[in-house]
Amino acid sequence: MTTDTIFGKIIRKEIPSYTVYEDDTVYAFLDLSQVTKGHTLVVPKKATTNILTADSEIASAVFARIPKIARAIQAAFPDCEGMNILSNAGDIASQSVFHWHVHLIPRYSKTDDGF
Ligand code: ADP
Repeated sequence: MTTDTIFGKIIRKEIPSYTVYEDDTVYAFLDLSQVTKGHTLVVPKKATTNILTADSEIASAVFARIPKIARAIQAAFPDCEGMNILSNAGDIASQSVFHWHVHLIPRYSKTDDGF
């Protein structure tokens, strides 16, 4: 079941977020938790619960944009040496917001979190 979530409100700009990338189908914004500096979430504008429910059109749109967004983050934070790119699907996998999102978590060697 897909219901409106806090990410729906973010996409509709009903609550604030820090935009990293936006087009007609995909929105990317900074994660509130900032596990590391530049931690970004990439979400489809059309809500679907997670990768297990995403149709190929939505999945293609999200995954096609990830390399470009990831490289832009790396360009913004030149000390970023790599990135964890992951998506939690379901309660059992620690998903807490049920609007599909992909985490881009930059990794830094000088400090654990880049701050
Ligand atoms: P988890 O909470 O275990 O990381 P998810 O993979 O579902 O589970 O990730 C949801 C993410 O959404 C969290 O990293 C959380 O910090 C982020 N988040 C929640 N509310 C907001 C918000 N208003 N703006 C930006 N990020 C948010």
